[in-house]
Amino acid sequence: MSENSKIEWTDHTFNPWEGCQKVGPGCDHCYAEARNARFAGGTAINWGPGAPRRRTSPANWRKPLAWNTNHAAFFAEHGRRQRVFCASLADVFDNEVDDTWRRDLFGLIELTPNLNWLLLTKRIGNAFEMVARARSHDWIAGRDNVWLGATIVNQEEADRDIPKLLRVPARVRFLSMEPLLGPVDLTSIPWGGIRTTVLDGWTDRTHGIHWVIVGGESGSGARPLHPSWPRALRDQCAQAWVPFLFKQWGEWTDEDWGERAGLRDTAGVLPSGEFLLTTEGYLPPFDDCERLAAAGNVRLDGRMLMDRVGKKAAGRQLDGRTHDEFPALWRTQ
Ligand code: SF4
Repeated sequence: MSENSKIEWTDHTFNPWEGCQKVGPGCDHCYAEARNARFAGGTAINWGPGAPRRRTSPANWRKPLAWNTNHAAFFAEHGRRQRVFCASLADVFDNEVDDTWRRDLFGLIELTPNLNWLLLTKRIGNAFEMVARARSHDWIAGRDNVWLGATIVNQEEADRDIPKLLRVPARVRFLSMEPLLGPVDLTSIPWGGIRTTVLDGWTDRTHGIHWVIVGGESGSGARPLHPSWPRALRDQCAQAWVPFLFKQWGEWTDEDWGERAGLRDTAGVLPSGEFLLTTEGYLPPFDDCERLAAAGNVRLDGRMLMDRVGKKAAGRQLDGRTHDEFPALWRTQ
């Protein structure tokens, strides 16, 4: 379980700076922008092209040093190393951030070898050059505590961005498929799962994808996750022996579960014949987030209903079980 973060797959979150700019459909309901706007009196002044990002305080930058020092106690209690998610309120490979800030961040990573750093970005196309400018082309290849991840929300992003992720010689690469907004077929990508590793030799883990996180969207206006999408990714990962973590359904769940839990609100049932979601994706007019936010439930494949029950009630079980797998064979001590 997380120590200082509510995010299921990490123990800590660290933001070296705050501020960003929307770059794709996965950013539509950016939590970080809304949070920054709230704290800035309504407008996120560090959001958008040209808006100066805000570097976080020296006290915040000292936190990873303290976590690093706490390694032995954490390991004794949990039997593994601490994971640090960087960055939840910004993007490490943001074009608006000067290379000197990234150089400082990489310096901090070098000072904290007891932490596993998870660098997750929606700008994976920048990673290769920016790492090289801040350090050297092979800096990341030499760091077995740096896991590099790309956010992928649909097939278009998978086709466009996974090759860019594979180009960076990180020791562990992962996909964060959240919010998942459509079906994604990963069967043609190079995997870095256990089977591949054994076949290719244990020492060579520098290729392929080593971990997949999948989750639905949460918050106001959240788009529902068609159950067939995480199921297909779970099965593809199992086939490739790649660890799979199902983070959450998001706000919506299917009718059966809602009825069982007594959570069904029939007042918002859509008129017969209208449906929102098919295995292929969202259908108009219910791809409109505002209409979606107002709907209590939506039709799935024109047959059944999904209910907006809230993130907590929707939970994170997929077909009756929790999927909490990590790339555990890589540097856990
Ligand atoms: S990349 Fe992340 S932080 Fe930046 S706008 Fe998109 S969702 Fe928000």
